[in-house]
Amino acid sequence: MRRIMTAMAPFIVLFIGWALAIKVELANEAVQSLVRILPYLFVIFALFMSLWYQNSNSFYLVCFILASYIFTSVTATKPAMLLKAVTMISIFLPINAVWLGFSKERGIFSTYGRNKAIIILVELIWMFMSVIGKANAQAVELNEAVMTISIPAFILFVLAIGILLASFLLKKQSMDLTFVAILLTGLIALHFAHRPLVMAIFITAIFVIDVIAMFDVSYSLAFRDTLTGVLSRRALEQELLKLGSKYCIAIADLDHFKHINDNFGHDVGDEVLKMVASVLQNYSGRAKVFRYGGEEFVILFAGMSINEVVPQLERMRKAIERRPFVLRAEDRPKEKPEKIKAGSSKGRGVIHVTMSFGVAQKTELLKTSQDVIRKADEALYKSKNGGRNCVTRS
Ligand code: GH3
Ligand code: MG
Ligand code: MG
Repeated sequence: MRRIMTAMAPFIVLFIGWALAIKVELANEAVQSLVRILPYLFVIFALFMSLWYQNSNSFYLVCFILASYIFTSVTATKPAMLLKAVTMISIFLPINAVWLGFSKERGIFSTYGRNKAIIILVELIWMFMSVIGKANAQAVELNEAVMTISIPAFILFVLAIGILLASFLLKKQSMDLTFVAILLTGLIALHFAHRPLVMAIFITAIFVIDVIAMFDVSYSLAFRDTLTGVLSRRALEQELLKLGSKYCIAIADLDHFKHINDNFGHDVGDEVLKMVASVLQNYSGRAKVFRYGGEEFVILFAGMSINEVVPQLERMRKAIERRPFVLRAEDRPKEKPEKIKAGSSKGRGVIHVTMSFGVAQKTELLKTSQDVIRKADEALYKSKNGGRNCVTRS
């Protein structure tokens, strides 16, 4: 639910921006003055939050958009210069969005961060020189309604949006979707570059979208496990406080995980954890999955009875058992692994992992959620003693 809201938020902002933009040119002087300062107000929030969370990709994209906005504002009354500025922005913006969207997050003031700053600065200087070059150019006639963006730039936008959207769908990184929304809003803003008030609304929308994304980053830092992306133990502690009187808690633990680390290395172990977490998440339905610690996950079934939960856990268990983990060539051990027991690995380049589950339901006897967790843990212990790769209910 939270994820859907986060994914929709930028597009809601764009929609609200659109609704406001239609009316802004008819608004009174006071409202128009306010609209003119809105981009500068929100850019402060966007830059501050990007700095706070050391998100260089957001920081430098926002810097570029701010500088672009200043270019268009300054040249608003000089059509030839404005047209040049818009042409250059419409080429650099999609390129920057894809480049920064795919760039690793390595801080704002680190060497990597400084390199990003240099690239953006070079683009801006190039743009500045080109725009200045048009200072004495003959006045061009602009269409009053919308500014036409060149076909190659438009194709770049479509490509960039397509690439970032595909990356969002494959990797489920919400920042990719944020960049898609920023590009879409940026494309619309550029169409209205000669109508400063309309442009100001859409540029504000871009900064609001970025601020929302930074709030999401802060939520993830607090409540998501950095390795697997599922909810963290801290999130579990919060969820446990909200539970009613009907719920079940399951604990899932990877079987013989130590052997995977020993035979294939810790990095492969990490990848296996990610794979398992994503399978649990895909089969979670109404339940929530948390990384409890190490290779243990807690699955919380609020409002569900144990009879409904056990078949769902069985589906998760079978899905993990069926899903092969394919080793990259460099991860394959030189010698045949000795320690791996039946069920842990088959074939040379593929690892098969299994998981044991213990589940308990809230009852009169189990007063607190901690009691239920303890019961689930006891059930898990029985699964381990009973040969692993099974679900035991307390
Ligand atoms: P069992 O079937 O009884 O659960 O056996 P096991 O080997 O899975 O259990 P054990 O608790 O002995 O080992 C858990 C291992 O998980 C030990 C630790 O090195 C590994 N581990 C814990 N956290 C991580 C992690 O984040 N990454 C990796 N790669 N390994 C981890
Ligand atoms: Mg364990
Ligand atoms: Mg284990």
